[in-house]
Amino acid sequence: MAANEPGQPGLSAAGELTRDRPTPAVALAIGAHPDDVEFGCGGTLAKWAAAGCVVHHLVCTDGSKGSWDASADTSALVATRQDEQRAAAKALGATGTVTFLDQVDGELEVTLALRGAVAEVIRRVRPEVVLGHDPWKRYRLHPDHRSAGFLTCDGIVAARDPHFFPEQGLAPHRPSALLLWEADEVNHIEDVTGSVDAKLAALEAHASQFESTMRAVDDSGLAEFRQRVRGRLASHGERIGVGAAETFAAITDL
Ligand SMILES: [Zn+2]
Repeated sequence: MAANEPGQPGLSAAGELTRDRPTPAVALAIGAHPDDVEFGCGGTLAKWAAAGCVVHHLVCTDGSKGSWDASADTSALVATRQDEQRAAAKALGATGTVTFLDQVDGELEVTLALRGAVAEVIRRVRPEVVLGHDPWKRYRLHPDHRSAGFLTCDGIVAARDPHFFPEQGLAPHRPSALLLWEADEVNHIEDVTGSVDAKLAALEAHASQFESTMRAVDDSGLAEFRQRVRGRLASHGERIGVGAAETFAAITDL
């Protein structure tokens, strides 16, 4: 099936690829685990932060399954991963908040209560652009990535409409755009040529994940990891003739 066929709600017409949104005043990136935001949109966030955007992070789970060591102390791991996430946000140049919903890693569910929690963060930080996992990505294995994607979409709908969660006592807020990374159907691309180093620095702040996620247990493993990330960004960049890019499904009729 051709990507971006006309008639798909929110997606632009067939073949149309938008690029480089104007820098938003405020952006909120929502990830399932510590490190997902940096993998999904770190280059875009670093670019925007450097241009004055206030970048906020929302992390749904506690990252407590992020170790291959069956005897690992998971409460220590949770604390480490929160510290790493704050350091990663700094490495991106983010000046906003880093919020943790503290759900158990691997067990994130799309509940009404969590939809309310996401909506509350959206209403508090009032982002112009929200970024998150694409929950409709085909053959996606990890349940937390699906759930976080749906919570992001559902949280936006709740945040914009006044009759959702009025007990929050917060004004509704409607973002201008939602950018979904690892998109099933890419229709938007951001040039990140100038922020690849910041993305890598932010990814490398998640040092506890060097073994399980990045396969970077030694110097040569780390060099290979950097090369993989650079290579992926470069191949996306080729689509628009730039050195590096991140791709998204953009939904702009929120
Ligand atoms: Zn993840």
